[in-house]
Amino acid sequence: MIKNYINGKLLEPVSEKYFDNYDPAIGEAYGIVPDSDERDVELAVAAAEAAFPAWAATPPDERSRIMFKIAELIKRDLAEFARAECIDNGKPLTLAKTVDIPRAIKNFEFFASAIHGFASESHNIEGEAVNYTLRNPIGIVGAISPWNLPLYLFTWKIAPALITGNCVIAKPSEITPMTAFLLSEACIEAGLPEGVLNIVHGYGHKVGKAITAHPKIKAITFTGGTKTGADIASVVAPMFKKLSLELGGKNPNIIFADANYEKMLSTTVMSSFRNQGEICLCGSRVFVEKPIYEKFKKDFVERTKALKIGDPLQNDTDQGAIVSKEHMEKVLGYIKLAQEEGGTVLCGGNQFIPEGRCDNGWFIEPTIIEGLAYNCRTNQEEIFGPVVTITPFETEEEVLMMANSTEYGLASIIWTENLSRAHRMAANIQTGIVWINCWMVRDLRTPFGGMKSSGVGREGGMEALRFFTEPKNVCVKL
Ligand code: NAD
Repeated sequence: MIKNYINGKLLEPVSEKYFDNYDPAIGEAYGIVPDSDERDVELAVAAAEAAFPAWAATPPDERSRIMFKIAELIKRDLAEFARAECIDNGKPLTLAKTVDIPRAIKNFEFFASAIHGFASESHNIEGEAVNYTLRNPIGIVGAISPWNLPLYLFTWKIAPALITGNCVIAKPSEITPMTAFLLSEACIEAGLPEGVLNIVHGYGHKVGKAITAHPKIKAITFTGGTKTGADIASVVAPMFKKLSLELGGKNPNIIFADANYEKMLSTTVMSSFRNQGEICLCGSRVFVEKPIYEKFKKDFVERTKALKIGDPLQNDTDQGAIVSKEHMEKVLGYIKLAQEEGGTVLCGGNQFIPEGRCDNGWFIEPTIIEGLAYNCRTNQEEIFGPVVTITPFETEEEVLMMANSTEYGLASIIWTENLSRAHRMAANIQTGIVWINCWMVRDLRTPFGGMKSSGVGREGGMEALRFFTEPKNVCVKL
Protein backbone atom coordinates (compact mmCIF):
# COMPACT_ATOMS: atom_id res chain seq x y z
CA MET A 1 0.00 0.00 0.00
CA ILE A 2 1.38 3.38 -1.01
CA LYS A 3 1.47 6.09 1.65
CA ASN A 4 2.23 9.78 1.69
CA TYR A 5 5.63 10.85 2.99
CA ILE A 6 5.09 13.86 5.21
CA ASN A 7 7.34 15.18 7.98
CA GLY A 8 9.57 12.15 7.65
CA LYS A 9 6.74 9.67 8.19
CA LEU A 10 4.64 7.42 5.99
CA LEU A 11 1.05 8.56 6.48
CA GLU A 12 -2.40 7.63 5.30
CA PRO A 13 -4.27 10.42 3.51
CA VAL A 14 -6.47 12.59 5.73
CA SER A 15 -9.51 11.50 3.67
CA GLU A 16 -8.60 7.84 4.40
CA LYS A 17 -9.60 7.23 0.76
CA TYR A 18 -7.58 5.43 -1.91
CA PHE A 19 -7.94 4.70 -5.59
CA ASP A 20 -6.68 1.79 -7.68
CA ASN A 21 -3.20 1.55 -9.16
CA TYR A 22 -3.08 -0.47 -12.39
CA ASP A 23 -0.54 -2.77 -13.96
CA PRO A 24 -1.07 -1.90 -17.65
CA ALA A 25 0.56 -5.11 -18.87
CA ILE A 26 -2.23 -7.19 -17.36
CA GLY A 27 -4.94 -4.53 -17.35
CA GLU A 28 -5.71 -5.05 -13.66
CA ALA A 29 -5.44 -3.10 -10.41
CA TYR A 30 -2.59 -4.35 -8.24
CA GLY A 31 -2.43 -1.75 -5.47
CA ILE A 32 -3.93 1.41 -4.08
CA VAL A 33 -2.88 5.07 -4.08
CA PRO A 34 -3.77 7.69 -1.45
CA ASP A 35 -6.52 10.00 -2.66
CA SER A 36 -5.00 13.00 -0.91
CA ASP A 37 -6.31 16.55 -1.01
CA GLU A 38 -5.50 20.06 0.19
CA ARG A 39 -5.47 18.91 3.82
CA ASP A 40 -2.49 16.62 3.16
CA VAL A 41 -0.76 19.40 1.25
CA GLU A 42 -1.36 21.68 4.25
CA LEU A 43 0.34 19.13 6.54
CA ALA A 44 3.25 18.88 4.11
CA VAL A 45 3.62 22.66 3.95
CA ALA A 46 3.62 22.93 7.75
CA ALA A 47 6.35 20.25 7.92
CA ALA A 48 8.39 21.96 5.21
CA GLU A 49 8.03 25.34 6.89
CA ALA A 50 9.33 23.93 10.17
CA ALA A 51 12.22 22.14 8.43
CA PHE A 52 13.32 24.99 6.19
CA PRO A 53 15.49 27.16 8.51
CA ALA A 54 17.69 24.24 9.57
CA TRP A 55 17.91 22.73 6.07
CA ALA A 56 18.78 26.09 4.49
CA ALA A 57 21.52 26.51 7.11
CA THR A 58 22.87 22.98 6.64
CA PRO A 59 26.29 23.17 4.97
CA PRO A 60 26.16 22.10 1.30
CA ASP A 61 28.65 19.32 2.08
CA GLU A 62 26.17 17.75 4.49
CA ARG A 63 23.22 18.11 2.07
CA SER A 64 25.43 16.55 -0.55
CA ARG A 65 26.37 13.64 1.74
CA ILE A 66 22.70 12.81 2.38
CA MET A 67 21.91 12.97 -1.33
CA PHE A 68 24.78 10.62 -2.16
CA LYS A 69 23.39 8.29 0.50
CA ILE A 70 19.94 8.37 -1.15
CA ALA A 71 21.60 7.57 -4.50
CA GLU A 72 23.49 4.69 -2.90
CA LEU A 73 20.29 3.20 -1.47
CA ILE A 74 18.51 3.36 -4.83
CA LYS A 75 21.57 1.68 -6.36
CA ARG A 76 21.46 -1.04 -3.71
CA ASP A 77 17.77 -1.66 -4.49
CA LEU A 78 18.00 -1.08 -8.23
CA ALA A 79 16.34 -4.39 -9.09
CA GLU A 80 13.35 -3.63 -6.85
CA PHE A 81 13.00 -0.07 -8.19
CA ALA A 82 13.24 -1.25 -11.81
CA ARG A 83 10.65 -3.97 -11.34
CA ALA A 84 8.30 -1.50 -9.64
CA GLU A 85 8.72 0.98 -12.50
CA CYS A 86 8.09 -1.74 -15.08
CA ILE A 87 4.91 -2.96 -13.39
CA ASP A 88 3.55 0.54 -12.73
CA ASN A 89 4.24 1.98 -16.16
CA GLY A 90 4.30 -0.97 -18.55
CA LYS A 91 7.80 -0.17 -19.83
CA PRO A 92 10.22 -3.04 -20.50
CA LEU A 93 12.09 -4.10 -17.37
CA THR A 94 15.38 -3.90 -19.27
CA LEU A 95 14.71 -0.21 -20.01
CA ALA A 96 13.85 0.55 -16.38
CA LYS A 97 17.05 -1.25 -15.32
CA THR A 98 19.35 0.43 -17.79
CA VAL A 99 17.82 3.89 -18.23
CA ASP A 100 15.14 5.00 -15.76
CA ILE A 101 16.59 3.94 -12.43
CA PRO A 102 20.29 4.55 -13.26
CA ARG A 103 19.32 8.04 -14.35
CA ALA A 104 17.41 8.68 -11.10
CA ILE A 105 20.58 7.68 -9.22
CA LYS A 106 22.64 9.95 -11.44
CA ASN A 107 20.28 12.88 -10.84
CA PHE A 108 21.04 12.75 -7.11
CA GLU A 109 24.77 12.20 -7.64
CA PHE A 110 25.02 14.89 -10.29
CA PHE A 111 23.39 17.66 -8.26
CA ALA A 112 25.13 16.54 -5.06
CA SER A 113 28.39 17.26 -6.93
CA ALA A 114 27.27 20.20 -9.08
CA ILE A 115 26.62 22.35 -6.03
CA HIS A 116 30.37 22.55 -5.46
CA GLY A 117 30.79 24.28 -8.83
CA PHE A 118 27.91 26.69 -8.29
CA ALA A 119 29.54 30.11 -7.98
CA SER A 120 27.90 33.52 -8.03
CA GLU A 121 28.88 36.57 -10.04
CA SER A 122 30.75 39.68 -8.99
CA HIS A 123 30.65 43.03 -10.83
CA ASN A 124 33.24 45.65 -10.16
CA ILE A 125 32.75 49.39 -10.83
CA GLU A 126 36.40 50.35 -10.88
CA GLY A 127 37.41 52.52 -7.93
CA GLU A 128 33.82 53.05 -6.85
CA ALA A 129 31.95 49.93 -5.80
CA VAL A 130 31.87 46.20 -5.98
CA ASN A 131 28.73 44.13 -6.47
CA TYR A 132 28.34 40.51 -5.64
CA THR A 133 25.35 38.21 -5.95
CA LEU A 134 24.07 36.08 -3.13
CA ARG A 135 21.95 33.08 -4.09
CA ASN A 136 19.63 31.95 -1.33
CA PRO A 137 17.18 29.06 -1.37
CA ILE A 138 13.65 30.11 -2.27
CA GLY A 139 11.95 28.35 0.65
CA ILE A 140 9.23 25.79 -0.05
CA VAL A 141 8.97 24.66 -3.67
CA GLY A 142 6.49 22.39 -5.45
CA ALA A 143 7.43 19.67 -7.96
CA ILE A 144 4.85 17.93 -10.15
CA SER A 145 5.80 15.21 -12.60
CA PRO A 146 4.27 12.92 -15.28
CA TRP A 147 3.98 9.16 -15.79
CA ASN A 148 6.27 8.43 -18.72
CA LEU A 149 9.68 8.42 -16.96
CA PRO A 150 8.38 8.36 -13.41
CA LEU A 151 11.38 8.30 -11.05
CA TYR A 152 13.74 9.75 -13.66
CA LEU A 153 11.77 13.00 -14.01
CA PHE A 154 10.65 13.17 -10.37
CA THR A 155 14.25 13.13 -9.11
CA TRP A 156 15.40 15.50 -11.88
CA LYS A 157 13.33 18.14 -10.07
CA ILE A 158 13.76 17.09 -6.45
CA ALA A 159 17.57 16.78 -6.48
CA PRO A 160 18.44 20.38 -7.54
CA ALA A 161 15.72 21.78 -5.27
CA LEU A 162 17.09 19.95 -2.22
CA ILE A 163 20.78 20.61 -2.81
CA THR A 164 20.15 24.37 -3.00
CA GLY A 165 18.56 24.28 0.47
CA ASN A 166 14.86 24.30 -0.37
CA CYS A 167 12.19 22.14 1.19
CA VAL A 168 10.03 20.34 -1.33
CA ILE A 169 6.41 19.28 -1.70
CA ALA A 170 6.40 16.78 -4.56
CA LYS A 171 3.65 14.96 -6.39
CA PRO A 172 4.32 12.08 -8.78
CA SER A 173 1.78 11.12 -11.40
CA GLU A 174 -1.20 9.31 -9.90
CA ILE A 175 -0.81 6.77 -12.73
CA THR A 176 2.76 5.75 -11.74
CA PRO A 177 3.30 6.52 -8.03
CA MET A 178 5.18 3.38 -6.93
CA THR A 179 8.84 4.37 -7.29
CA ALA A 180 8.16 7.75 -5.64
CA PHE A 181 6.91 5.74 -2.67
CA LEU A 182 10.06 3.60 -2.69
CA LEU A 183 12.06 6.83 -2.82
CA SER A 184 10.35 8.04 0.36
CA GLU A 185 11.50 4.87 2.11
CA ALA A 186 15.05 5.47 0.86
CA CYS A 187 14.95 9.06 2.15
CA ILE A 188 13.95 7.87 5.62
CA GLU A 189 16.76 5.31 5.64
CA ALA A 190 19.25 7.88 4.37
CA GLY A 191 18.44 10.18 7.29
CA LEU A 192 17.01 13.07 5.30
CA PRO A 193 15.71 15.39 8.03
CA GLU A 194 11.95 15.35 8.60
CA GLY A 195 9.92 17.75 6.46
CA VAL A 196 12.71 18.51 3.97
CA LEU A 197 11.05 16.40 1.27
CA ASN A 198 7.35 15.64 1.39
CA ILE A 199 5.67 13.41 -1.21
CA VAL A 200 1.91 13.74 -1.49
CA HIS A 201 0.12 11.24 -3.73
CA GLY A 202 -3.15 11.79 -5.54
CA TYR A 203 -4.89 13.40 -8.47
CA GLY A 204 -3.76 16.51 -10.29
CA HIS A 205 -7.01 18.37 -9.82
CA LYS A 206 -6.78 17.85 -6.04
CA VAL A 207 -3.16 17.54 -4.86
CA GLY A 208 -1.56 19.19 -7.90
CA LYS A 209 -3.93 22.10 -7.73
CA ALA A 210 -3.48 22.50 -3.96
CA ILE A 211 0.31 22.63 -4.45
CA THR A 212 0.21 25.20 -7.25
CA ALA A 213 -2.32 27.41 -5.41
CA HIS A 214 -0.67 27.30 -1.98
CA PRO A 215 0.56 30.78 -1.01
CA LYS A 216 3.54 29.44 0.96
CA ILE A 217 4.89 27.42 -1.97
CA LYS A 218 7.05 29.96 -3.77
CA ALA A 219 8.13 28.14 -6.92
CA ILE A 220 6.63 25.43 -9.09
CA THR A 221 8.51 23.06 -11.34
CA PHE A 222 6.21 21.07 -13.59
CA THR A 223 6.63 18.45 -16.32
CA GLY A 224 3.57 17.24 -18.16
CA GLY A 225 1.08 18.16 -20.85
CA THR A 226 0.85 21.62 -22.43
CA LYS A 227 -2.81 22.07 -21.45
CA THR A 228 -2.00 21.27 -17.78
CA GLY A 229 0.96 23.66 -17.99
CA ALA A 230 -1.37 26.43 -19.13
CA ASP A 231 -3.77 25.70 -16.25
CA ILE A 232 -0.91 25.82 -13.76
CA ALA A 233 0.46 29.05 -15.25
CA SER A 234 -2.95 30.70 -14.87
CA VAL A 235 -2.97 29.88 -11.14
CA VAL A 236 0.67 30.71 -10.49
CA ALA A 237 1.17 33.89 -12.53
CA PRO A 238 -0.98 36.24 -10.41
CA MET A 239 0.77 34.87 -7.32
CA PHE A 240 4.18 35.80 -8.83
CA LYS A 241 5.70 32.39 -8.20
CA LYS A 242 8.77 31.25 -10.05
CA LEU A 243 7.66 28.76 -12.68
CA SER A 244 9.44 26.17 -14.77
CA LEU A 245 7.35 24.28 -17.34
CA GLU A 246 8.49 21.26 -19.37
CA LEU A 247 5.61 20.44 -21.69
CA GLY A 248 4.61 18.44 -24.75
CA GLY A 249 6.45 17.90 -28.01
CA LYS A 250 5.97 16.94 -31.65
CA ASN A 251 9.57 16.48 -32.54
CA PRO A 252 10.87 16.34 -36.11
CA ASN A 253 13.42 13.71 -37.12
CA ILE A 254 15.02 15.04 -40.32
CA ILE A 255 16.93 12.59 -42.49
CA PHE A 256 19.06 13.87 -45.36
CA ALA A 257 20.18 11.51 -48.14
CA ASP A 258 23.83 11.80 -47.09
CA ALA A 259 23.16 10.48 -43.56
CA ASN A 260 25.18 7.60 -42.17
CA TYR A 261 22.41 5.22 -43.16
CA GLU A 262 22.82 2.32 -40.76
CA LYS A 263 23.41 4.51 -37.72
CA MET A 264 20.44 6.66 -38.71
CA LEU A 265 18.14 3.67 -39.26
CA SER A 266 18.83 1.89 -35.99
CA THR A 267 18.63 5.15 -34.01
CA THR A 268 15.41 6.14 -35.79
CA VAL A 269 13.73 2.89 -34.73
CA MET A 270 14.68 3.82 -31.15
CA SER A 271 13.77 7.51 -31.36
CA SER A 272 10.39 6.53 -32.78
CA PHE A 273 9.36 3.71 -30.48
CA ARG A 274 11.46 3.58 -27.33
CA ASN A 275 9.33 3.40 -24.19
CA GLN A 276 6.34 2.78 -26.56
CA GLY A 277 6.92 6.27 -28.00
CA GLU A 278 6.02 7.69 -24.61
CA ILE A 279 9.06 9.96 -24.29
CA CYS A 280 8.55 13.67 -24.80
CA LEU A 281 11.77 13.59 -26.88
CA CYS A 282 10.72 10.88 -29.35
CA GLY A 283 10.86 11.95 -33.00
CA SER A 284 7.27 11.43 -34.07
CA ARG A 285 7.46 13.23 -37.44
CA VAL A 286 10.08 11.63 -39.66
CA PHE A 287 11.06 13.70 -42.72
CA VAL A 288 13.13 11.92 -45.34
CA GLU A 289 14.95 13.45 -48.32
CA LYS A 290 13.38 12.17 -51.55
CA PRO A 291 16.31 10.21 -53.06
CA ILE A 292 16.31 7.77 -50.12
CA TYR A 293 12.62 7.89 -49.21
CA GLU A 294 11.54 4.56 -50.76
CA LYS A 295 14.57 2.65 -49.48
CA PHE A 296 14.18 4.13 -46.01
CA LYS A 297 10.46 3.34 -45.96
CA LYS A 298 11.09 -0.32 -46.78
CA ASP A 299 13.91 -0.74 -44.25
CA PHE A 300 12.18 1.22 -41.49
CA VAL A 301 9.00 -0.84 -41.81
CA GLU A 302 11.02 -4.06 -41.81
CA ARG A 303 12.98 -3.13 -38.66
CA THR A 304 9.84 -1.94 -36.90
CA LYS A 305 7.99 -5.15 -37.66
CA ALA A 306 10.85 -7.04 -36.02
CA LEU A 307 10.32 -5.30 -32.65
CA LYS A 308 9.08 -7.71 -30.03
CA ILE A 309 5.93 -6.50 -28.26
CA GLY A 310 4.67 -8.11 -25.08
CA ASP A 311 5.33 -8.93 -21.45
CA PRO A 312 7.48 -6.06 -20.11
CA LEU A 313 9.03 -8.35 -17.51
CA GLN A 314 10.67 -10.52 -20.19
CA ASN A 315 14.24 -9.69 -21.09
CA ASP A 316 13.79 -9.78 -24.87
CA THR A 317 10.78 -7.42 -24.97
CA ASP A 318 11.31 -4.23 -27.00
CA GLN A 319 7.82 -2.76 -26.64
CA GLY A 320 5.86 -2.95 -23.40
CA ALA A 321 2.35 -1.83 -22.52
CA ILE A 322 0.76 1.59 -22.96
CA VAL A 323 0.48 3.25 -19.56
CA SER A 324 -3.33 3.23 -19.22
CA LYS A 325 -6.45 2.09 -21.03
CA GLU A 326 -7.48 5.70 -21.48
CA HIS A 327 -4.16 6.58 -23.08
CA MET A 328 -4.27 3.50 -25.29
CA GLU A 329 -7.67 4.58 -26.56
CA LYS A 330 -6.41 8.10 -27.20
CA VAL A 331 -3.49 6.79 -29.26
CA LEU A 332 -5.73 4.38 -31.22
CA GLY A 333 -8.07 7.33 -31.84
CA TYR A 334 -5.18 9.22 -33.46
CA ILE A 335 -4.40 6.24 -35.72
CA LYS A 336 -8.03 6.31 -36.86
CA LEU A 337 -7.84 10.07 -37.38
CA ALA A 338 -4.69 9.65 -39.48
CA GLN A 339 -6.58 7.29 -41.80
CA GLU A 340 -9.51 9.71 -42.02
CA GLU A 341 -7.03 12.41 -42.96
CA GLY A 342 -5.84 10.29 -45.88
CA GLY A 343 -2.86 8.52 -44.28
CA THR A 344 -1.80 4.98 -45.17
CA VAL A 345 -0.78 2.69 -42.33
CA LEU A 346 2.43 0.93 -43.45
CA CYS A 347 2.73 -1.25 -40.38
CA GLY A 348 0.96 -1.66 -37.04
CA GLY A 349 -2.19 0.38 -36.55
CA ASN A 350 -3.95 -1.86 -34.04
CA GLN A 351 -4.17 -2.89 -30.45
CA PHE A 352 -1.91 -5.88 -29.83
CA ILE A 353 -3.00 -8.83 -27.72
CA PRO A 354 -0.05 -10.86 -26.43
CA GLU A 355 -0.45 -14.51 -25.56
CA GLY A 356 -0.24 -15.63 -21.95
CA ARG A 357 -0.35 -13.55 -18.78
CA CYS A 358 -0.62 -10.21 -20.63
CA ASP A 359 -3.60 -11.11 -22.84
CA ASN A 360 -5.76 -8.52 -21.06
CA GLY A 361 -3.10 -5.79 -21.16
CA TRP A 362 -2.98 -2.50 -23.06
CA PHE A 363 -0.58 -2.81 -25.99
CA ILE A 364 -0.36 -1.09 -29.39
CA GLU A 365 1.61 -2.28 -32.40
CA PRO A 366 4.37 0.17 -33.40
CA THR A 367 2.76 2.12 -36.21
CA ILE A 368 4.17 3.95 -39.25
CA ILE A 369 1.92 6.15 -41.36
CA GLU A 370 2.64 7.90 -44.68
CA GLY A 371 0.79 10.12 -47.09
CA LEU A 372 -0.26 12.88 -44.71
CA ALA A 373 -0.01 16.65 -45.18
CA TYR A 374 2.52 18.24 -42.82
CA ASN A 375 -0.17 20.50 -41.41
CA CYS A 376 -2.93 17.95 -40.70
CA ARG A 377 -3.93 17.26 -37.09
CA THR A 378 -2.02 13.96 -36.95
CA ASN A 379 1.15 15.87 -37.81
CA GLN A 380 0.47 18.81 -35.52
CA GLU A 381 -0.90 17.33 -32.28
CA GLU A 382 1.06 15.34 -29.72
CA ILE A 383 0.08 11.64 -29.79
CA PHE A 384 2.64 10.37 -27.24
CA GLY A 385 2.53 6.73 -28.29
CA PRO A 386 4.15 4.26 -30.72
CA VAL A 387 3.00 6.17 -33.80
CA VAL A 388 5.15 8.04 -36.31
CA THR A 389 4.48 9.60 -39.67
CA ILE A 390 6.95 9.63 -42.55
CA THR A 391 7.01 12.46 -45.09
CA PRO A 392 9.34 13.04 -48.07
CA PHE A 393 11.01 16.41 -48.68
CA GLU A 394 13.05 18.01 -51.46
CA THR A 395 14.88 21.01 -50.02
CA GLU A 396 16.34 22.24 -46.77
CA GLU A 397 13.94 25.24 -46.79
CA GLU A 398 10.92 23.00 -47.26
CA VAL A 399 11.83 20.63 -44.43
CA LEU A 400 12.65 23.49 -42.10
CA MET A 401 9.25 25.05 -42.79
CA MET A 402 7.49 21.71 -42.08
CA ALA A 403 9.61 21.01 -38.99
CA ASN A 404 8.85 24.45 -37.53
CA SER A 405 5.15 24.36 -38.40
CA THR A 406 3.84 23.00 -35.08
CA GLU A 407 3.07 24.91 -31.90
CA TYR A 408 5.72 22.77 -30.16
CA GLY A 409 9.47 23.28 -29.95
CA LEU A 410 11.01 20.70 -27.65
CA ALA A 411 13.60 18.61 -29.52
CA SER A 412 14.75 17.82 -33.04
CA ILE A 413 16.97 15.22 -34.65
CA ILE A 414 19.00 15.93 -37.79
CA TRP A 415 20.83 13.29 -39.83
CA THR A 416 23.43 14.56 -42.29
CA GLU A 417 27.16 14.23 -42.91
CA ASN A 418 27.27 17.78 -44.30
CA LEU A 419 28.75 19.89 -41.52
CA SER A 420 27.64 23.29 -42.83
CA ARG A 421 24.09 22.10 -43.33
CA ALA A 422 24.01 20.57 -39.84
CA HIS A 423 24.99 23.89 -38.26
CA ARG A 424 22.62 25.87 -40.51
CA MET A 425 19.70 23.62 -39.60
CA ALA A 426 20.58 23.74 -35.89
CA ALA A 427 20.58 27.53 -35.97
CA ASN A 428 17.23 27.80 -37.71
CA ILE A 429 15.19 25.02 -36.19
CA GLN A 430 12.81 26.12 -33.45
CA THR A 431 13.53 23.60 -30.71
CA GLY A 432 15.26 23.82 -27.33
CA ILE A 433 17.34 20.70 -28.02
CA VAL A 434 18.92 19.70 -31.34
CA TRP A 435 20.50 16.28 -31.74
CA ILE A 436 22.77 15.93 -34.76
CA ASN A 437 23.47 12.35 -35.82
CA CYS A 438 22.29 11.01 -32.46
CA TRP A 439 19.34 10.91 -30.09
CA MET A 440 18.94 11.04 -26.29
CA VAL A 441 22.62 11.62 -25.71
CA ARG A 442 22.37 13.55 -22.45
CA ASP A 443 24.92 15.64 -20.61
CA LEU A 444 23.23 16.77 -17.41
CA ARG A 445 25.13 20.08 -17.44
CA THR A 446 23.31 21.31 -20.57
CA PRO A 447 20.16 23.48 -20.54
CA PHE A 448 17.19 21.17 -21.01
CA GLY A 449 13.77 22.32 -22.18
CA GLY A 450 11.58 23.52 -24.98
CA MET A 451 10.55 26.61 -26.93
CA LYS A 452 7.05 27.74 -27.95
CA SER A 453 4.29 25.61 -26.34
CA SER A 454 6.87 23.06 -25.19
CA GLY A 455 7.78 25.03 -22.13
CA VAL A 456 9.13 27.95 -20.20
CA GLY A 457 12.60 28.01 -18.66
CA ARG A 458 15.26 25.33 -18.67
CA GLU A 459 16.24 22.49 -16.35
CA GLY A 460 19.63 20.86 -15.94
CA GLY A 461 23.03 21.93 -14.63
CA MET A 462 23.44 25.50 -13.45
CA GLU A 463 20.05 26.47 -14.96
CA ALA A 464 18.32 24.30 -12.36
CA LEU A 465 20.49 25.58 -9.51
CA ARG A 466 19.70 29.15 -10.58
CA PHE A 467 15.97 28.37 -10.82
CA PHE A 468 15.87 27.07 -7.26
CA THR A 469 17.69 30.08 -5.78
CA GLU A 470 16.78 33.72 -5.37
CA PRO A 471 19.55 36.08 -6.53
CA LYS A 472 20.30 39.08 -4.36
CA ASN A 473 22.63 41.83 -5.52
CA VAL A 474 24.82 43.34 -2.79
CA CYS A 475 26.56 46.60 -3.69
CA VAL A 476 29.49 47.74 -1.52
CA LYS A 477 30.85 51.29 -1.88
CA LEU A 478 34.61 51.27 -1.90
P1 NAD B 1 -0.40 15.63 -17.32
O1 NAD B 1 -0.25 17.06 -17.65
O2 NAD B 1 -1.74 15.01 -17.47
O3 NAD B 1 0.01 15.34 -15.80
C1 NAD B 1 1.28 15.69 -15.29
C2 NAD B 1 1.19 15.88 -13.79
O4 NAD B 1 0.38 17.02 -13.52
C3 NAD B 1 0.54 14.71 -13.05
O5 NAD B 1 1.22 14.51 -11.83
C4 NAD B 1 -0.87 15.21 -12.81
O6 NAD B 1 -1.51 14.63 -11.70
C5 NAD B 1 -0.64 16.70 -12.58
N1 NAD B 1 -1.79 17.58 -12.82
C6 NAD B 1 -2.84 17.36 -13.65
N2 NAD B 1 -3.69 18.41 -13.59
C7 NAD B 1 -3.16 19.30 -12.74
C8 NAD B 1 -3.55 20.60 -12.28
N3 NAD B 1 -4.68 21.18 -12.70
N4 NAD B 1 -2.74 21.25 -11.42
C9 NAD B 1 -1.59 20.69 -11.01
N5 NAD B 1 -1.17 19.48 -11.38
C10 NAD B 1 -1.94 18.79 -12.25
O7 NAD B 1 0.69 14.88 -18.16
P2 NAD B 1 0.92 13.31 -18.29
O8 NAD B 1 -0.17 12.75 -19.13
O9 NAD B 1 1.20 12.74 -16.95
O10 NAD B 1 2.32 13.26 -19.09
C11 NAD B 1 2.42 13.29 -20.47
C12 NAD B 1 2.81 14.67 -20.94
O11 NAD B 1 4.03 15.08 -20.33
C13 NAD B 1 3.08 14.72 -22.43
O12 NAD B 1 2.48 15.87 -22.97
C14 NAD B 1 4.59 14.83 -22.52
O13 NAD B 1 5.09 15.44 -23.68
C15 NAD B 1 4.89 15.63 -21.32
N6 NAD B 1 6.29 15.46 -20.94
C16 NAD B 1 7.16 16.49 -21.15
C17 NAD B 1 8.50 16.36 -20.82
C18 NAD B 1 9.48 17.48 -21.03
O14 NAD B 1 10.59 17.38 -20.51
N7 NAD B 1 9.16 18.53 -21.74
C19 NAD B 1 8.95 15.17 -20.27
C20 NAD B 1 8.04 14.13 -20.08
C21 NAD B 1 6.71 14.29 -20.41
